[in-house]
Amino acid sequence: MCPSSASGARRQIVRATHGSNDLPSRPPGLRAKPIAKAKPSNWTRRASRHDRGYGTAHDKMRERVLREEPLCRICDASGLVTATTTADHITPLAEGGTGDRDNMQGLCDPCHKAKTAREAARARLRRRADRH
Ligand SMILES: [Zn+2]
Repeated sequence: MCPSSASGARRQIVRATHGSNDLPSRPPGLRAKPIAKAKPSNWTRRASRHDRGYGTAHDKMRERVLREEPLCRICDASGLVTATTTADHITPLAEGGTGDRDNMQGLCDPCHKAKTAREAARARLRRRADRH
């Protein structure tokens, strides 16, 4: 008998036996489900603090605004005395404002939050207008 044909037949038998006993490695119910792709959150979609113009220069400017305007500008205009907690961009960066001192004002937290909410509403309107 030719040695090469004998080993070829043997190989075939081994493969057939192995194939007939081939069980799935795990029962179907225990197979790992494909991991759903994480929905991008506002946090991950947003550019970094630094990329949005809030780097070291802004930190220094913030210190200066808080020092020069210890009282909230909006509250002060209506006769209220409230401590400044935030250096606010008078014209937001998203609307072409700069980080220069003349575009900065000291605001308290509630005034800043209210102003930011109005700016966010304008930004949504801009995005809607861009889509149409
Ligand atoms: Zn205020």
